[in-house]
Amino acid sequence: MPELNLVLLGPPGSGKGTQGERLQEDLRLPYYATGDILRGAVRDGTELGRTAKEYMDRGDLVPDDVIVGVIGERIDSPEARDGFILDGFPRTIPQAEALDAKLEELGRGVTAVLQIDAADDEVVRRLGGRRTCEESGHVFHVEFNPPQREGVCDLDDSELIVRDDDKPEVIRKRLETYHAKTEPLVDYYDQRGVLRRIEGTAAPDEVAEEIRRALATMRLEQDETV
Ligand SMILES: [Zn+2]
Repeated sequence: MPELNLVLLGPPGSGKGTQGERLQEDLRLPYYATGDILRGAVRDGTELGRTAKEYMDRGDLVPDDVIVGVIGERIDSPEARDGFILDGFPRTIPQAEALDAKLEELGRGVTAVLQIDAADDEVVRRLGGRRTCEESGHVFHVEFNPPQREGVCDLDDSELIVRDDDKPEVIRKRLETYHAKTEPLVDYYDQRGVLRRIEGTAAPDEVAEEIRRALATMRLEQDETV
């Protein structure tokens, strides 16, 4: 079985995270979501966390050397031997080049990039309505998954807050950053023949099915070229 080194690409709020978790279960590969890794570091108050928080609170990208170091360590670990799923990295052309260099050093490469797309308006609607439990991070949505009592977590009665990076002005800034810095990766990976486009606005089950089909087709194509 050849290794499966996957990158999920798409704007914030495209449903990438949901699909990443499904892929993790389906494919039994480690799922590295940069946002979760960084938020964990922020919660734990590590040096990485303190540095990262300053950037994240402004809706800016965390500097490359910080992220590249963290991700490089993980993809070089035994658990990622058969492959991995990256979400939130790379986000810029320099990061993509750093990833390629790291993989090449390991005698590996990116197998496929799944571009999960969603329009800006849809992103604002999805993210702007999120309410997160302050205590345990349980997530609700004012429109799609409202709590029984407004502003209160159903599971532990904690207060529900709007996370800093779900605030409308920060979402707009994140989208601007995405279009300017991350969207060029679509061409970068398309030129390398590994890009697969997935429509992210369908229901999660349909999106997951489309991803399964894309990966199956890709494997058939690879078998033919071997
Ligand atoms: Zn809760």
